[in-house]
Amino acid sequence: VTVELGERSYPIYIGEGLIEQAGEYFTKHEISKKSPLMIVTDENVASRHLSKLEVALQGAGFQVVSTIVKPGEKSKSLSVFEDLITKALEAGLDRKSTIVALGGGVVGDLAGYVAASYMRGIKFIQVPTTILAHDSSVGGKVAVNHPLAKNIIGAFHQPELVLYDLSTLQTLPLRDVKAGLSEVIKSGLIWDAEFVDWIDNNAERLLALDEEALGYALYMGCNIKAQVVSQDERENSLRMILNLGHTIGHALEAVAGYNELLHGEAISIGMIGSARLGVKLGGSEEIYTVTKRVLSRMGLPVGLPEHLDIDAIMEAMLHDKKFSEGTMVFVVPTAIGEVIIDHSVSTELVREIVEQLK
Ligand code: NAD
Ligand code: ZN
Repeated sequence: VTVELGERSYPIYIGEGLIEQAGEYFTKHEISKKSPLMIVTDENVASRHLSKLEVALQGAGFQVVSTIVKPGEKSKSLSVFEDLITKALEAGLDRKSTIVALGGGVVGDLAGYVAASYMRGIKFIQVPTTILAHDSSVGGKVAVNHPLAKNIIGAFHQPELVLYDLSTLQTLPLRDVKAGLSEVIKSGLIWDAEFVDWIDNNAERLLALDEEALGYALYMGCNIKAQVVSQDERENSLRMILNLGHTIGHALEAVAGYNELLHGEAISIGMIGSARLGVKLGGSEEIYTVTKRVLSRMGLPVGLPEHLDIDAIMEAMLHDKKFSEGTMVFVVPTAIGEVIIDHSVSTELVREIVEQLK
């Protein structure tokens, strides 16, 4: 997959055993062997996949230093960011150095923001190890969280390349597999009805981590995101379609607490809400039945956890930046594989939809 951005473009390589060949890929893309290169990863990924990457890069003559952070969203913080800047300085990283993110979206966002800021920006490479990271590694958004708001300190910083080694996914916990597939389903729902059909027919293979099925699903997911981002790098209009299910989803994450619902689980419920909205606004019933069937097959939640309070969810959505003067911006399906951006959905209608999710 190639991501085209004006004058620049970068490749996403997808396949098995790519980490073992990282030295060749990095050499081909003119990554410096004279300046130190820093790998950022988390403890869970380090114990399973770090030494393979270190060996491959050292073998090809790169000067490698590795930094391991604690797993989880808490590491996307300014204090961990500062620790990494300290490590980078101590290791002697210079303007020609590269930062490599080996891990999921947390490590990708964090290491990417370090790369965007260090010496006003150095090269960055993503080596994703989760399914969800097909989404986070394409598009160039990098960020850390503030205690009051998620992803609020960040930048746009595109990687030199993305090296997606499918073999790393074999060690991913099943819950993270399903949550990552939620974003793959989203890509189909906004862009490609045939792909939704394919997911529907291959859910079992995907859940069993069949590498051929995973490879195709991630190729499609990356490709759809790349096409959308290529046409709208800075989220002026088209890029908003990637937020299908996210308005409700983000509110659910905030209300349930980030530990109870994973991002992919929250947007699964959000996509059910959007599908209902699509039917309400004149779309065919199929939008709802197909959306629900595919998400259920993937073992994703399709209804609200009982204890969540509707008022709290509505309140959380009112804080969303997409809300203004009694109406909100919603990504609404008009058919499977097609969505529109509706700027005039009333808060009453949204409330009705959220209540039906119980
Ligand atoms: P994550 O990075 O926290 O990974 C999930 C869990 O799996 C972690 O515990 C991690 O240690 C573990 N793990 C990762 N790879 C593994 C492997 N191969 N084997 C075993 N365990 C492994 O989370 P995620 O779901 O990948 O990403 C979520 C983050 O991505 C959020 O912070 C979100 O804001 C961000 N995100 C960013 C974008 C973007 O455009 N930048 C888009 C979507 C999501
Ligand atoms: Zn998302």
